[in-house]
Amino acid sequence: MAEFICFPALQSKTRASLDHYLEDGGYRSLKQALDGIAPADLTALVKASGLRGRGGAGFPTGMKWSFLPKQQELPVYLVCNADEGEPGTFKDRDILRYAPHQLIEGMLLACHAIGARVGYIYIRGEFQEEAACVERALAEARGAGLLGKDILGKGFNADLHVHMGAGAYVCGEETALLNSLEGRRGLPRTKPPFPAVVGLYGCPTIINNVETLAAIPPIVANGPEWYVGLGTPKSPGTKLFSVSGHVKRPGVYECRMGTPLMDLINGDCGGMREGRQLKVVIPGGSSVPMLTAQEAATLSLDYESCMEHGTMLGSGAVIVLDDTVSIPHLVQNLGHFYAHESCGQCTPCREGTQWMHRILDRLVGGRGKASDLDLLLDICKHVSFRTICALGDAATGPVKSGVTKFRSEFEALVR
Ligand code: SF4
Repeated sequence: MAEFICFPALQSKTRASLDHYLEDGGYRSLKQALDGIAPADLTALVKASGLRGRGGAGFPTGMKWSFLPKQQELPVYLVCNADEGEPGTFKDRDILRYAPHQLIEGMLLACHAIGARVGYIYIRGEFQEEAACVERALAEARGAGLLGKDILGKGFNADLHVHMGAGAYVCGEETALLNSLEGRRGLPRTKPPFPAVVGLYGCPTIINNVETLAAIPPIVANGPEWYVGLGTPKSPGTKLFSVSGHVKRPGVYECRMGTPLMDLINGDCGGMREGRQLKVVIPGGSSVPMLTAQEAATLSLDYESCMEHGTMLGSGAVIVLDDTVSIPHLVQNLGHFYAHESCGQCTPCREGTQWMHRILDRLVGGRGKASDLDLLLDICKHVSFRTICALGDAATGPVKSGVTKFRSEFEALVR
């Protein structure tokens, strides 16, 4: 069963205030770090914990921090990516609502490690309530001397600010996010240079996801070995999973990495709706390849097992669908989403997502041709890995896996 080891506030969902956080041992890791952990040692500690980015890419956090130029005059910025827009993902929202101080403490620890004195929390435009929770927590922290100048009387200065997005999915891509934060259109930038070298306002910038940053205080408090021991050798620690779809108890659960997927579905989530069979699981948000029930039966919730099964852990958004679901309709729905959200900069993504969307509409509307199925797969081939950002690849995930694994359902529509 889910234990809420690193994110205890998500269990009760009632202890978001500063008083509650302090009662539960909050800001002790920050004090410990400011008392005697040098920035380079803190980066080494996070590296040793094996913490990987929880926003989707799974890139090792400590390694990302170490990409900052060693000698430079420019200020360093920290940006928290709270633009949680991947369909099926709603775990960062819970951290913003119920554990905002854990996020703030994690950000201050990260600021200490990377030498940043200013951090931004970029929150998706729809999260008005969550932004209010974070603003309230920032005010509490500032009032208690935990933010701003001379934090905890240790001579450490750092401040954090909330910036609201305007609801574009592509702004979850880190360079589009930076453009949006600078007041420009949220268009992904070509890389290199990567943000660690040329980021916000042309300065070195580290961008981490909400869950990644909020995992740092328990890692500092308990040590990297403790965190490693919670997961598998290659996927250390725990992860939040937002489970949606046809289970009896959808919600946000914290699981040790390596937990069998079916334990989560049949345990915490209470199994499938009455009288229904599992048909499909999308384990990491709508953009990752879907798994059949048979494939899902042997999946464990870690990066390696997902790779072996031809899919990805992504943001940990587990979408569980039963035998009432039509795969062509599902793929059509997602196709609309990606075509709508493409920023239009790259021809393969701009044109390819529109073509796929129109062909899927034709198929579902009963006007499809037998050749449409191979045409869809051919378009996927020409969109994947030919674009500035990952949205193009993301758009092909459901189409490729849906058409390949459930071809007979598409053929039935043609007939
Ligand atoms: Fe824009 Fe799509 Fe290119 Fe990303 S892949 S930059 S969303 S056109």
